[in-house]
Amino acid sequence: MSTLTMGVEGLPGIGPKKKEQLAALGIYTVRDALFHAPLRYEDRRGRKNIADLIDGEKAGVVAVAVGKMSVRRTGGRALYTQSFRDGSGTLRVTWQNTPYLTRTFIHGASYALYGRAFVSGSQRQMFSPLHQPAGKTGGQIGAIVPIYPANSHVSQALLSAVISGSLAMLREEVPDILPAVVRNGAEIMELGRALFALHRPMCMEEAAAAQDRLKFEELFLLFLGMRLQRKSLEEKKGHRLSASMEPFYEKLPFRLTEGQRQAVEDICRDMASGKPMNRLVEGDVGSGKTAVAAAALYIAATCNKQGILMAPTEILARQHAASLRTLLPDMEICLLTGRLRAAERRAAEEKIADGRARIIVGTQAVLSEKLPLSRVAVAVVDEQHRFGVRQRGFLSGLSQSPHVLVMSATPIPRTLSLTYYGDLDISRLPSRPAGRQTVDTFAVPPSYRERMYGFIQKELEKGNRAYIICPRATEGEEEGLWDVEGYAAALTAYFPKEQILCLSGKMKNKDEIMEAFATGSPKILVSTTVVEVGVDVPDATVIVVENAERFGLSQLHQLRGRVGRGKEKSYCILVSEPHTAEARARLETMKKENDGFKIAEEDLRLRGPGEFFGLRQHGEMQLLYADILEDSRLVPVAAREAESLLSLDPTLLMHPELRQAVSALYARFAMN
Ligand code: ADP
Ligand code: MG
Repeated sequence: MSTLTMGVEGLPGIGPKKKEQLAALGIYTVRDALFHAPLRYEDRRGRKNIADLIDGEKAGVVAVAVGKMSVRRTGGRALYTQSFRDGSGTLRVTWQNTPYLTRTFIHGASYALYGRAFVSGSQRQMFSPLHQPAGKTGGQIGAIVPIYPANSHVSQALLSAVISGSLAMLREEVPDILPAVVRNGAEIMELGRALFALHRPMCMEEAAAAQDRLKFEELFLLFLGMRLQRKSLEEKKGHRLSASMEPFYEKLPFRLTEGQRQAVEDICRDMASGKPMNRLVEGDVGSGKTAVAAAALYIAATCNKQGILMAPTEILARQHAASLRTLLPDMEICLLTGRLRAAERRAAEEKIADGRARIIVGTQAVLSEKLPLSRVAVAVVDEQHRFGVRQRGFLSGLSQSPHVLVMSATPIPRTLSLTYYGDLDISRLPSRPAGRQTVDTFAVPPSYRERMYGFIQKELEKGNRAYIICPRATEGEEEGLWDVEGYAAALTAYFPKEQILCLSGKMKNKDEIMEAFATGSPKILVSTTVVEVGVDVPDATVIVVENAERFGLSQLHQLRGRVGRGKEKSYCILVSEPHTAEARARLETMKKENDGFKIAEEDLRLRGPGEFFGLRQHGEMQLLYADILEDSRLVPVAAREAESLLSLDPTLLMHPELRQAVSALYARFAMN
């Protein structure tokens, strides 16, 4: 048995209780302990003269104990004070309730101390510093010390001990799953060295290189998995479908933009290739993705097959069905949602089963159920701005691998799309259709509200509609935040003749409300951000966002995309009192910038990786060591090395241990 697989209870000082504590952190074996990477490092190598200590700064000194430890009792506490001296001055060190220390320090002996210094006048003090006899090696002072992710049950000291013990046990070579050719290509450390450097780095650079090694390995496995998945898809037979596109182009109510036409050509090529298409159409809100999706559905339907379109919500499914009916006027389009009555549903299922319905539109929830979908040759997945990595899973369960087209309105930076969509080919829609103007954007303080209502009134008189977005649904604790209910009530004073609609996430009849706003007599909708998800109301020309400082850039941009969908000039008014520089910068960006890709980059820059789209909370691709955004420099290297190894060993036949590690990584994703 190798040392690595040995249980931690075999290490000196680890009894049943500590074993159990460590298990709670997922540490069972020596290997687990060694892979428990430090959160950060503290450089305790430096050594200062007592006279040079700076107030508030952590530092180390080496000094001689002078005299005896004194004890003072105050308010139930016992304070133990010992003086130390070096050539430059005297340091008073105090500990609290530590009677065992009274015999630790020997007058005249020399000690290393490390802690935060307090300097006032000529007095220099430390409270509860780390201490050890001077000249001792391998202790807590005089080295770069790893600080581990501990928790309330497992102390830093226990982790340090178990990792030290594990390092000491390690006699044989640590087997490295990364082949030398990959390590050399990526200029990455060998594993055994990396594990030592991770816990006992000689310098900060070495610590960083050791961390890189673990991060790289993880990203490398991630990309290997993606490429393998992709290869196995490519080996599958796909429906070989081709159709003359002229009739499709002729029936469209508009001319496709250059980008749309390019995307349609990509799709035609994919669907005729005999292999399953796996394509992402990425385009800002309003860039015209639906027409591109319609082309894919058109090809399937014309070839006597079926196409499905999956939408994230009921409202969107309905709107997609309506749009497709105008884009594909000759096709039988069947809408399947959870809201259908039993009889309607049976009729729809019959049409699907006997093949009369060529195009089926529904929510992901409904379409994932058991349906007679044997004829489906293409599936369009509308993700809007969510990452639906998992939803795609169910498609592989269909009888013959269908062509898959994913539509996303999330303009994400390149390193991210490489990671999230690395298994897809990408078509981008860079420009907006002609005639779709940019939305004029204003940032105003709350004192402008009345003037703004006057402006809205004029828009309503022209037959247009207005959205007003509030950060919360109902009144809450936090002061100064508008809620939908309260706002709508206040608004009736300004618009006594208008019927004002309210919408928020918890309401059951969201669809009805949305429909009433889109086509009915109510012309003002006060809502939370639930409207964010791609609903189309062409008459809406104004969107007001209250407490705009509360929203992220990408979210504001998505909201702005709700207007400017018809022919009329449209406006976005951001009402706020920005208190931070960052909030002001966001509003400025919104005023200047209309391009979703540029806004996403700016969002990333302003908020920092952690907050971006709440990606870290997005559980599907949780990595232990690497952070796709912070470690973005490693992403292309890992992708390149994965590609190049697979070109030598396409199925990892010669690297079974890598294959196994890839499966383990993906199994972890599936569990999240
Ligand atoms: P999104 O990419 O946000 O899904 P849509 O497909 O909903 O965008 O298109 C937005 C609007 O632009 C729709 O009203 C659609 O009819 C219109 N549109 C799409 N393509 C064109 C085009 N080439 N010329 C003119 N209008 C277009
Ligand atoms: Mg859309």
